[in-house]
Amino acid sequence: MILSGAKAYNFLKIDLLDKIQRLKVKPTLKAIYLGHNSASEKYLNNKSKKLKKLNVNFDVIHISSPRKRNLESLISKLNNDKLINGIIIQLPFPDELRKYQDDILNLINPLKDVDCLTRSNLGKIFDPKTSIIPATPQGIISLLNFYKIKISGKKVTIVGRSNLVGKPLALSMLSKNATVTICHSKTKNLKNLTLMADIVILATGNPKLFGIEYFCSKQTVIDVGINITPDGKIVGDVDFENVKNIVKNITPVPGGVGPMTIYGLAKNLIHLTTIQTKL
Ligand code: NAD
Repeated sequence: MILSGAKAYNFLKIDLLDKIQRLKVKPTLKAIYLGHNSASEKYLNNKSKKLKKLNVNFDVIHISSPRKRNLESLISKLNNDKLINGIIIQLPFPDELRKYQDDILNLINPLKDVDCLTRSNLGKIFDPKTSIIPATPQGIISLLNFYKIKISGKKVTIVGRSNLVGKPLALSMLSKNATVTICHSKTKNLKNLTLMADIVILATGNPKLFGIEYFCSKQTVIDVGINITPDGKIVGDVDFENVKNIVKNITPVPGGVGPMTIYGLAKNLIHLTTIQTKL
């Protein structure tokens, strides 16, 4: 079966719309976009279209030549603005600022950190009852739930160990009673580790790297990768056209994890706006 994130999102957004309507304020989310990156521009466009349809005030602040100090004062200004409920910085950071990435992300007030990338919010993932987890892991779990694919007791192999996807996803899956293996660029015998799993999740950023030799029947394959080919097409980490014929379930790219990430982001924004309006 093709696990359509677009279909799941269209169904789940009815609940999001309802929850947003019941908030005391129309939520406002500011995205900071640094430098120039065509993939980031595509993500931001998608986020903007979907979030505006959910009645979220969504704005992008673009800084084409960002400096650390200016960024720090912008974050401080947004943190102190009571009309702003959420702040995200679109990743990746430009090369010249990458070494400061974690420290800069950590300046965001955790109550406005809808991407859940501050140390304090990342730490909450250790609590199995937490309501805030990074948007992509949250979207993946919601997609599996939507298609009634069991996580508990299953073997899950995740390829990729970023703070954005792999690590928080591994902890979330673990708290849902999966047996989790995390792989990365230094992992040996990767094929053996993907072949043994019930659910395989790929988040490496390598276009179509994973062909049929990495998978077998009865598996659910979740392709997180978003890669732009030289001719401008969006492809995942998986060789979808061939792999879809041999596995049980697979997500397409685009239209798989992407829309579900926006679902996770909106859920976090609703959660944090609710807390802010109670303060
Ligand atoms: P990242 O660069 O921070 O991390 C990539 C991870 O993959 C690293 O842990 C690295 O060790 C591992 N890796 C790289 N090459 C590998 C290889 N050949 N074999 C095994 N492991 C390998 O990236 P990220 O921020 O986690 O994003 C990963 C991909 O997911 C990117 O394509 C990104 O665009 C995409 N993404 C998609 C969504 C979505 O909504 N669909 C959200 C976030 C990220």
